[in-house]
Amino acid sequence: MTLKYFKSEELLKRARKVTPLGAQTYSKSFRYFCEGISPSFIEKGEGCRVWDVDGNEFIDFICALGPVTVGYNNKQINEAIINQLNKGISFSQSTKVEVELAEKLNQIIPCAEMVRFVKNGSDATTSAIRLARAYTGRDIVALSGYHGMHDWSIGSTANNRGVPKPICDLTKTFNYNDITSLKKLFDEYKDKIAAVILEPIQGNGPEEGYLQAIREITSKNGAVLIFDEVVSGFRYALGGAAELYNVVPDMVAMGKGMGNGMPISVVAGKREIMELIEEGVFVSTTFGGETLSIVAALETIKILEKPNVYEGIWKLGNKMLNGLNNIISDKKVSDVVFTSGLAPHAGVQFEGKGSLDYLDINSIFQQRMIQEGIMSIGINNLNLSHSEKEIELYLNAAELALDDIQR
Ligand code: PLP
Repeated sequence: MTLKYFKSEELLKRARKVTPLGAQTYSKSFRYFCEGISPSFIEKGEGCRVWDVDGNEFIDFICALGPVTVGYNNKQINEAIINQLNKGISFSQSTKVEVELAEKLNQIIPCAEMVRFVKNGSDATTSAIRLARAYTGRDIVALSGYHGMHDWSIGSTANNRGVPKPICDLTKTFNYNDITSLKKLFDEYKDKIAAVILEPIQGNGPEEGYLQAIREITSKNGAVLIFDEVVSGFRYALGGAAELYNVVPDMVAMGKGMGNGMPISVVAGKREIMELIEEGVFVSTTFGGETLSIVAALETIKILEKPNVYEGIWKLGNKMLNGLNNIISDKKVSDVVFTSGLAPHAGVQFEGKGSLDYLDINSIFQQRMIQEGIMSIGINNLNLSHSEKEIELYLNAAELALDDIQR
């Protein structure tokens, strides 16, 4: 299939004059896709399909980088938003729907004795860190990955230009699934670690006993355990990793998948920590109680909490993973391609070979997938509107894309 992107290319030229990378999010920019051979601008979505501004149709396995858990343009969620829109969006005081959503999260998320709504995942993780520092009276944070755009988190990365060094010095990194690396930090910074923050599910998930060991070491050392479930929340299970692995952190940050694409996130945790907000620890935003996102989240949860929803998503994801593993083995490309992830958030990753690095191979894969009408960045997000049919179309395309890699 030869696709044309005249309108996308035109818009990209205009956008790049006025917006860095022509997009609002790094991972949505042309750098992450293949300029000129992939769309840059989307017009609309329906279920798990999107149409670009040139009218090309794609099955979307990226799902807006995670937020779309139910599907695009969902009638039930739209109706809730429109009903609320007719009453008003933001008010000068709190609303009933805020209380309803807070009560709902309190029911479904194991550590959520109290919650506060914010807008982005970064707002939620930063709020958790500030509360943990205030609660413990300590400054150092141990982390093992990306936790958002704010200084404390970016300060721990190689790409930390613009973050003052004293802030970078307050974060110490450990390796996921390697309890010894965290123990070493506790040996070195004993009574100084305020919080350990990690994504409880990374790659193929926690090894047996890993999260329990983190729970023990944080409790023993008086550090706050924070699960960053901005990605994993609402994707693998309604109550997140705490429900899935039966390990309850002190605090959790959730975002992306909560409102099926509406901008809402939440910091939640033990009452004695969250109550510090009442003592003045500052976690407050103008739009935290914005009602359209809140009713969208209530409706999204209503849909996700129906029986067998998560079983269905896991089943589809496992079908995809099994299919991919069979193709990789048939095509004998296991030296450059491997599957990764747990069913609802899984797919393929690449390794370099000869003169091609893994990004080249990823690009070859992505180009063919796009040509076949599949939008994917390797690791896929599955949602309720994907079905066996879309998984089969994905696997057919992946077979062709892996042929291209083989050549
Ligand atoms: N935490 C994790 C694990 C993330 O992957 C992200 C974003 O991708 C964030 C936090 C930050 O979320 P946001 O981009 O909504 O601020």
